[in-house]
Amino acid sequence: METREMICIMCPMGCNLKVTKDGNKIEVTGNNCMRGVNFAKEELTAPKRIVTTSVKTSKGVKACKTNGGVPKDKIFDVVKEIEKLHLKSVKFGDVIIKDVLGTGVDVVVTAND
Ligand code: SF4
Repeated sequence: METREMICIMCPMGCNLKVTKDGNKIEVTGNNCMRGVNFAKEELTAPKRIVTTSVKTSKGVKACKTNGGVPKDKIFDVVKEIEKLHLKSVKFGDVIIKDVLGTGVDVVVTAND
């Protein structure tokens, strides 16, 4: 049996979760909603993070991020894919890489020129 404590990052409340894994059974306490349970289970089995970085454009660097979680072991590869780009012009919400590295999430611009 393995017990871990973690903070849920799914909303600003930041609930302190206690997660117990016993074989295939995962029990979560301290959550105020089911998103905390889902977060804790994913954290134990296949942790993901939203990648926030910047992309080069002809008008300087612009903020961008993934529109969903990327497996933690692919974060640096995703950043490298974004670093390969040099775009002419972008606007808020533009998808600059669709399904980045087959993760099922897109990279979107979060700033205007
Ligand atoms: S468990 Fe629910 S309420 Fe608590 S931080 Fe996570 S999302 Fe927010």
